Amino acid sequence: MQFIDLKSQQDQIRSKIEKRIQNVLDHGKYIMGPEVFDLEEKLSDYVGVKHCISCSSGTDAMLMPLMSWDVGPGDAIFTSPFTFIATTEVIRILGATPVFVDIETDTYNIDPSLLDSQIQRIIKETDLNPKAIIPVDLFGLPANYPEIMKIAQKHNLYVLEDGAQSFGGKIDEGKSCSFGDAATTSFFPAKPLGCYGDGGAVFTDNDELAEKLRSIRVHGKGTHKYDNVRTGRLTTISAV
Ligand SMILES: *Cc1c(COP(=O)(O)O)cnc(C)c1O
Repeated sequence: MQFIDLKSQQDQIRSKIEKRIQNVLDHGKYIMGPEVFDLEEKLSDYVGVKHCISCSSGTDAMLMPLMSWDVGPGDAIFTSPFTFIATTEVIRILGATPVFVDIETDTYNIDPSLLDSQIQRIIKETDLNPKAIIPVDLFGLPANYPEIMKIAQKHNLYVLEDGAQSFGGKIDEGKSCSFGDAATTSFFPAKPLGCYGDGGAVFTDNDELAEKLRSIRVHGKGTHKYDNVRTGRLTTISAV
């Protein structure tokens, strides 16, 4: 048995996909074509947030808000140890320090009851500057955001929701990728919303952040600040 059966998924949508790919070949706008903006609008409507900014992977999607918040050396980022390597990788790429907070035994998501004491320990025992929390939503289940947001507010920390494993999930009426200051997902083929290639997206209600993210996506358009770090875009064929 195939764990993730992409073939039978494809059988159901194959003719539609072929037609949409044909359209892209016809109009020739392979990068940032109309399908990309279409998809962003549909996804932001679905999630219920103002902005969706697509990019080349779930990893780049996480990198972009952290770059916008100037995360770098000396910053402590609190996250779950029970995740795909990318969550920690982006923290290290920017030179910041990941600080792990253990998971709940029933949800496998970050345990909010351990978060506050871990933040206090870092403040007391290290020179690191607590900057952000990256909760990871595993197995379709968002982390406990009501509790996490209270702790984030108390310590004035950003929250970045890693929704790569939970797109389509929800808590009450709150959809995955609607929590925190920004949220990200991945369109890697095996993820809940996969594409035929690599892809990812950032979601946020914050206009100023959205503008920065759109700039970072095209190598720092309009500023020179982000020119040296490479993040990429979602190709049009991946958005069909
Ligand atoms: C897959 C995944 C990512 C990274 O997504 P890519 O599109 O592969 O870069 C990040 N976090 C989690 C939890 C993931 O499962």
